[in-house]
Amino acid sequence: MNIVICCDFDGTITLTDTGKILLSKLTDKDWQYFDDLVIKGTMGTREALVNQWGMIEKTTIEEINRIVDEIEIDPSFIKFYDWIKENEIKFVILSDGFKTYINRIFQNHKIQIAEDGIKSNDMELIEGKIKLKFLTPECEHDCANCKYSHVKQFKDKGSKIIYIGDGLSDIFPARELADLILAKENEDLAKELENDSRLIKFKNFTDLMEIITIEFLLKRF
Ligand SMILES: [Mg+2]
Ligand SMILES: [Zn+2]
Repeated sequence: MNIVICCDFDGTITLTDTGKILLSKLTDKDWQYFDDLVIKGTMGTREALVNQWGMIEKTTIEEINRIVDEIEIDPSFIKFYDWIKENEIKFVILSDGFKTYINRIFQNHKIQIAEDGIKSNDMELIEGKIKLKFLTPECEHDCANCKYSHVKQFKDKGSKIIYIGDGLSDIFPARELADLILAKENEDLAKELENDSRLIKFKNFTDLMEIITIEFLLKRF
């Protein structure tokens, strides 16, 4: 099976969106305003993130870590990831979040993900201000991290794409490139692609493992 599972991080693997929690704890300003612009389609996620993280006047890595350490992952993800490794399925995490906190959250939960298995942005602190480090160059969709371009590379090599996600940044790559879409129920991706025949909704990774068994994958691909 030439399959790649592309999986979002925040809100999919974690139970809450780390970026949104950090913003809400580190600034009192109206950062949601920029999310609304993204939803309306008048601003890309790249510009929105620059504006949002720019609202934080001053922070420290200790303060960020304290908040990040409260983030929980879906407990059944661990079992799912063991299953991925056992079956040697290619698994890539695509995220608009920061590598710093993604690695820390995995470490907190004693999960080891290969370095090249995470394609995300990152940040650095310059005199207490958060400066974003984007993984991909500016693209025509104005993505913060162009999930589409990562998935496209696998697709172009002939891989079948299983896309797992929840949010706005997952809609475009899933719709354009996925062979199968697993979308967290009641979230933007599931709502937006409601009538797509490739879409299956899931609640958590326990649920998801009942759907994508090896038998299912062999039959489907
Ligand atoms: Mg998400
Ligand atoms: Zn893009």
